[in-house]
Amino acid sequence: MSFRRLGLALIFFFLLALFGSWAFGADEQGDFACVGGKVYPSPTDAPIENATLLVHDGKIVAVAPGYRLKNKFPKSAVTIDCKGKVIVAGFWNSHVHFETGWQDAANITAPALEAHLQEMLTRWGFTTVWDLGSLPSNTLSIRQRIEAGEVPGPQILMAGDIFPKNGHPVYLPPEMKLPEAATPQQAAEMSKQYLQMGLDGIKLFTGAFMGSKPTVNMDTDIVKAAVDVAHGEAKPVFAHTQNRVGTDNALAGGVDILAHTIPTEGSFTPEELARMKTQHTALIPTLTLWTTVSQNQQVINQLVQAGVSELKAYFSEGGTILFGTDVGFTTKYDTDQEFEFMGRAMGWRDILASLTANPSDYFKASSKGRVEKDMDADLVILDADPAIDVGNFAKVAYTIRGGKVIYGK
Ligand SMILES: [Zn+2]
Repeated sequence: MSFRRLGLALIFFFLLALFGSWAFGADEQGDFACVGGKVYPSPTDAPIENATLLVHDGKIVAVAPGYRLKNKFPKSAVTIDCKGKVIVAGFWNSHVHFETGWQDAANITAPALEAHLQEMLTRWGFTTVWDLGSLPSNTLSIRQRIEAGEVPGPQILMAGDIFPKNGHPVYLPPEMKLPEAATPQQAAEMSKQYLQMGLDGIKLFTGAFMGSKPTVNMDTDIVKAAVDVAHGEAKPVFAHTQNRVGTDNALAGGVDILAHTIPTEGSFTPEELARMKTQHTALIPTLTLWTTVSQNQQVINQLVQAGVSELKAYFSEGGTILFGTDVGFTTKYDTDQEFEFMGRAMGWRDILASLTANPSDYFKASSKGRVEKDMDADLVILDADPAIDVGNFAKVAYTIRGGKVIYGK
């Protein structure tokens, strides 16, 4: 790095410290070179040490060790000193909700919306999220404001909720109007409507938690009707299963993703694990969620332990794991604990896969999930190496989506 460039970089970082955000010139295309960091191109590749990574027009142009790409820098590129940093692909959170605290999204100010997006998602590295249930019109307006460039934020994919008849979960406000399907025809109709609205998938409550009353399950033929409509349009179906019956009905109906582990059941049965494997079902652990469902520490420990063993059982059979935390239903936004819990069942590279390559592959987002030439410049720049401690996945310095910084410390 020349002294002139170094000087510019220092001024740049001074301005960054001053304003607390990292904005590229609006008239530039967001071209930049991140120099001197350690890049993990994928969950399986060896790291590239002291790497230079070039981004042009929202795409990764090149990644290579050392400074050999120097003459390839676009003229407008800003050079970023990435020494001591670790660069991985942008994270997916495959289970969120724009629900708790997200009301009136069309009318709140852009800075307020951006601040909330940062607090819940982008400061934790998320560049793509799956909303598994909220008021669709409200979440669509958040998505629209992000995609129009008004507010920096993650890509939002949305699943429309369907509940079983008389299955209004106790933890949702009673006045909230929920779509309940009593028959396969109703489930099919609701699924069609959601997909017509531009939603990206369906979420079925195959088990609805009723507190002291028994869980209300969704019949398999209703599950199947919704799945048929979604799969007819190549869209995925998630299930909140709640208990064993809900899990078995979801699997029998051909659901793609289990949105939670089922810790109150203690474990998946060998038959469930075998069926999940055969059907290529994906599992979202949501282990931190189990710390919020009781006040009793002993109960919490048991639930987390059961969730970890369920995760471990499916993972060790080669099952697909997708990272997800249920934030936006819960207000525990910090991802550190989820990494610690997942680390009890999987290695750091497997956790990286659940955050990047697994969801990109599973949801067929072929330009995402890896730090390689021609891929989208969806990146997380970490302050420390997750290979040393999985908690370092939560130490995010910058989150970049399509070459634009959507969070900077
Ligand atoms: Zn949820």
